Amino acid sequence: MIYNFNAGPAMQPKAVMLETQAELLDWHGCGKSVMEISHHSDEFSTIAQDAEQRLRLLLDIPSDYAVLFLAGGASIQFSMIPLNLCANHDDQADYLHTGAWSGKAITEAKRYIRVNTAMSAKNSEFSTLPDHTRWQLTDNARYLYYTTNETVQGIQFNSIPQSTVPLVADMTSSILSEHLDIKRYGVIFAGVQKNIAPAGMTIAIISPDCLDCAMAITPHWFHYQSQYQAHSMLNTPPTFNWYMAGLMFKWVEDEGGIAVMEQRCIRKSTSIYEVIDNSNGFYINRIDPTYRSKLNVVFHLKTTKLQDTFIQEATNADLHGLKGHKLMGGIRASMYNAMPEEGAQQLCNFMRDFAQRYG
Ligand SMILES: *Cc1c(COP(=O)(O)O)cnc(C)c1O
Repeated sequence: MIYNFNAGPAMQPKAVMLETQAELLDWHGCGKSVMEISHHSDEFSTIAQDAEQRLRLLLDIPSDYAVLFLAGGASIQFSMIPLNLCANHDDQADYLHTGAWSGKAITEAKRYIRVNTAMSAKNSEFSTLPDHTRWQLTDNARYLYYTTNETVQGIQFNSIPQSTVPLVADMTSSILSEHLDIKRYGVIFAGVQKNIAPAGMTIAIISPDCLDCAMAITPHWFHYQSQYQAHSMLNTPPTFNWYMAGLMFKWVEDEGGIAVMEQRCIRKSTSIYEVIDNSNGFYINRIDPTYRSKLNVVFHLKTTKLQDTFIQEATNADLHGLKGHKLMGGIRASMYNAMPEEGAQQLCNFMRDFAQRYG
């Protein structure tokens, strides 16, 4: 069995893949594949509503929140957020700069609105998160934006930021890995390729008060309210991704729900951080332990010239996808819900053995 530690597109649960395979040519006896049927058909309506319902139950989403299934990657939300939550170019929003993804969101938002970087972790090279008492929030901000888990650096918030304005969260790499208090948020979005489904779709969960603004220039197909009215079918949605997302939600339910995912996630990441911390400096993780990511364990080897050997030997041992992001170098082990606990265990064993042989 190959354990795939890719950051995204990422490993899918085997059960979900097998179910997709079994239904590929003929969905529930309709004689056609899901990818061949109209998004307006009764069959697809069933698939779409079923997926939404399952997500609403899993995350306990209030009924007045919109749940949108949108074409395209998470980065499209970097533009859709300011366009949909602001009325004009003079409006201001607060952003927390905690790593690569929030950095890109800030750059993009600046094209539309005035951005106040209320906190930046750049001074520490994104290894710790300055306390909220040091944030410089503005009174008239339209929203406060943050990235729950920075997938590239491997740093994660451990609580929800306090906010008096709508809170916007990029949860691309952490959704379905922990309990969420949805009411605290204005908008939550997540590209599906990390923890939900194949690449090409983004899910947005939107409070009623964040559906009613939008700049006049907002492209019609980027407009939350219009997509909401059209049940995310203003144009052809990514039907197959939507279908596979539904299978994933059912799988999470069958496995015991979000609480079980959360516990597994903690156990998997903790076991690897323990190996790092007990390696006498052979492996180094530079993130403040309070904010270490539970999804993406980013580390490097003290002897950097051993890194290629580490990756090569890991691959030979069926541990794939461990090469770090090009910005960071080193090693990154991404472990979303589909990564079995045995995968993390095998990686721990490999790391200990490697350190012994080369340390
Ligand atoms: C992967 C990722 C993105 C970008 O997703 P795309 O679908 O490639 O646009 C954005 N934010 C976070 C936190 C991510 O992990």
